[in-house]
Amino acid sequence: MDSEEHCCVNVAVHIRPLIEDERLQGCKECVVVVPGKPQVQIGSHSFTFDHVYGSTCSPSSAMFDECVAPLVDGLFDGYNATVLAYGQTGSGKTYTMGTGFKESSQTGLIPQVMNALFNKIETLKHQAEFHLRVSFIEVCNGQVGKVATPGKSPVQIRESSNGIITLSGSTEVDVSTQNEMAACLEQGSISRATGSTNMNNQSSRSHAIFTITLEQLQKINPCYTADGSPIEEINEDFLCAKLHLVDLAGSERAKRTGSDGLRFKEGVHINKGLLALGNVISALGDERKRKEGAHVPYRDSKLTRLLQDSLGGNSRTVMIACISPADINAEETLNTLKYANRAR
Ligand code: ADP
Ligand code: MG
Repeated sequence: MDSEEHCCVNVAVHIRPLIEDERLQGCKECVVVVPGKPQVQIGSHSFTFDHVYGSTCSPSSAMFDECVAPLVDGLFDGYNATVLAYGQTGSGKTYTMGTGFKESSQTGLIPQVMNALFNKIETLKHQAEFHLRVSFIEVCNGQVGKVATPGKSPVQIRESSNGIITLSGSTEVDVSTQNEMAACLEQGSISRATGSTNMNNQSSRSHAIFTITLEQLQKINPCYTADGSPIEEINEDFLCAKLHLVDLAGSERAKRTGSDGLRFKEGVHINKGLLALGNVISALGDERKRKEGAHVPYRDSKLTRLLQDSLGGNSRTVMIACISPADINAEETLNTLKYANRAR
C-alpha cells in the first residue's frame, strides 16, 4: 500500500429508488446524478465523492467490487477495515449492508463479503490454516451490548498495550462454514427487527456492528536438501485482521425522534457517536493535520473507541452515505451529503 491509501477514507453515495410509501405520497425525485461522474446535485448544491451508485441500476455488485472487495483482500494481508453505512432512518442502510438478513441476502454487502471471504479461503487453504470469528453487537444509549440481548449484558471495551481493541464477555462466536456465519447474521437481524415500529425502533436508534475476525497461520515452505529432507523447521506466520461492517443509527436530528426525556437522551447519544465518528474521520482525512500528528478524538464516544484500531493507521475505511431520492427527505439528504463530504 502506498502512503496515500493508508489514511484515505473512501466515500460512496448510494441512492435508493423511491419506495412505495413515497410514491403514494406523490413524492418527486430531487437528487440528480451527473452522468459519467461520481457527482450528485440537490437543489443548488453539488458534491463529488469517490463513487455514486444511483437508483436506476442495481448497484450492489459494483459497489461491492469497487468499495468492499479490496478490504476483504486486505484482511488476508493483515489489514483491519471498517465499512460504515450512514444516513437517515429509511434511507437504505440496512438494505445496503445486508444487516437485515432476509431482505438483502443476495445483494447486501455482508452476504457478499461472506461469499468472497469463503471463496478466497477455499483457494488458499493449502497454504494456510484459517480461523474465523464473528460478533454482532449494538451500541445504543452509549452502551455496548450483544445484539441478541440488547441492554442486558453491557460489554466493556478494552484496549491492550499494543492498541488492539477487544470486548469483555463472550461476544465472539467461532465459525467454520459460510452457513454458520450467515446464521449468526440472521439470528442477530431477527432479534434486531423484533418489536420495531418506524422512527422509534431499536434499529434506528442503535449502531449495529457485525465484525468478522480472520486469523491465519501461514505455512512457509521449508528449504529442502538434495535428498528431499527439510533443512529448517517449518516456520509459521500468524496474521490476524478484522472487518467491521457497521449499520449506523439513523442520522436524523434528535427532535424528530420525540420530545420525551428518554427518547431525547437516546437522540443525544446517537448524535454524540455520529458526531465523534465524523470528527475522527475528518481528522484522518485531513492531510495537513495528520502530518502535524494532530489528535484523533477516538475517545469521544463508545462507537469510535470500539472502532479505534480499525479506523486510520494502516486500516482501510469505506463510508457509504445512503440517501432517499424523495423531495420530502431533501433536508436530511443534504445533511447526509454534507456529513459524507466532510469525510473525504
Ligand atoms: P434504514 O436501514 O436506513 O432505516 P432500510 O434499509 O430499512 O433503511 O430501507 C428502507 C426501505 O427502503 C425498506 O423498505 C427497503 O426495502 C427499501 N430499500 C432500501 N434500499 C433499497 C434499494 N436499493 N432498492 C430497493 N429498495 C430499497
Ligand atoms: Mg436500518
